[in-house]
Amino acid sequence: MAAITYFGVAWILAQVIALAGCTASSTIGLESERNEAKNIILLIGDGMGLTQVSTVYYYQDKPSNFSRFRHIGLHQNMPTSHKVTDSASGATAFSAGVKTYNGAIGVDQDTVPVSSILELVAAAGWSTGLVATSSVQHATPASFYAHTTSRAFYEEIARQFVYAPVNFVAGGGLQFFANRSDSINYVDSLIHMGFEVNVDELIYYSLNINKKYAYLLADDALPKRQNGRGDFLPVATKMAIHHLSQDKDGFFLMVEGSQIDWGGHANDAEYVIQETLDFDKTIGVALDFAEKNKNTLVIVTADHETGGLSLSASTVFGQGDYSKITPTFSTSNHSAALIPVFAYGPGAEYFMGIYQNNDIFYKMLEAIKMEAPKSANRK
Ligand code: MG
Ligand code: ZN
Repeated sequence: MAAITYFGVAWILAQVIALAGCTASSTIGLESERNEAKNIILLIGDGMGLTQVSTVYYYQDKPSNFSRFRHIGLHQNMPTSHKVTDSASGATAFSAGVKTYNGAIGVDQDTVPVSSILELVAAAGWSTGLVATSSVQHATPASFYAHTTSRAFYEEIARQFVYAPVNFVAGGGLQFFANRSDSINYVDSLIHMGFEVNVDELIYYSLNINKKYAYLLADDALPKRQNGRGDFLPVATKMAIHHLSQDKDGFFLMVEGSQIDWGGHANDAEYVIQETLDFDKTIGVALDFAEKNKNTLVIVTADHETGGLSLSASTVFGQGDYSKITPTFSTSNHSAALIPVFAYGPGAEYFMGIYQNNDIFYKMLEAIKMEAPKSANRK
């Protein structure tokens, strides 16, 4: 009798456990369907068209981190003022969802300031970070925190940075804080606003969640990777993720491989290749984190292509030599080619297809289930 009772209890328990297990797994199923991004890492390769991406497949022996993406799309980047975009209107399209004029930093085509995704998520309690190999006041990073009618106003952009909701920044641009025409020392202001400022090196330890960090390691841009920049970009990205991911509310991080563009302007193939390889390595850092942290959306794209780069078959005595590639450029300026977008993580599927550069802003908001602000005007 007792044995039967025990058997019965065991059977009932087994059913309860099976049911609980079933309930638990279906709950998990529902949650993964509704899974929304809590963190966004947006990596922008300035001037990185599909040919620049292709160099990673020909000029390094290890596999490319671009191959780790399954959700891929294309964007068109035409600004309101011209046919071909610059980096300011290109970045403002991503940061604030508006098509605007070349030179605009965080303002629409009527020069009205527009809220950036960095500002929006910061208002929702997220931590934010910016990493660039240019100065941090340069057009691409500036478009995420500043609002100026011209990208050339570096000192004003630096002043606005002091009051921006940024928790981690690494790049160049010290002179625009420290050596200004108005003689104001904005490094002191940064410290006053809670930043620990370092002008010598990245220090990868004891990042305190309650502090903000500014690594301003050059007066203007950082050196080329070929000239001793080393692993600044992947290491700073790792540090930024390490610091910002302490925030349970979420984080937004923008990382720019700024100098792919400059290699293109210089028609210097080796410069482009080295900067793109550095960027590829940095993508690996972001994806390694996102693979572990399931709530992170990683997006990789460019503002535009620079140089009209082509990986041409070599020409020897007027004959095509298909055994060799000679990188050739068609311009020292930007081109109008559609630009690839690579996405990983919750919401990655939104980035498939062909769309406009400013749609990327709305797709990011969709992925984190945040409403677009009134200032954004999707067209
Ligand atoms: Mg840039
Ligand atoms: Zn450029």
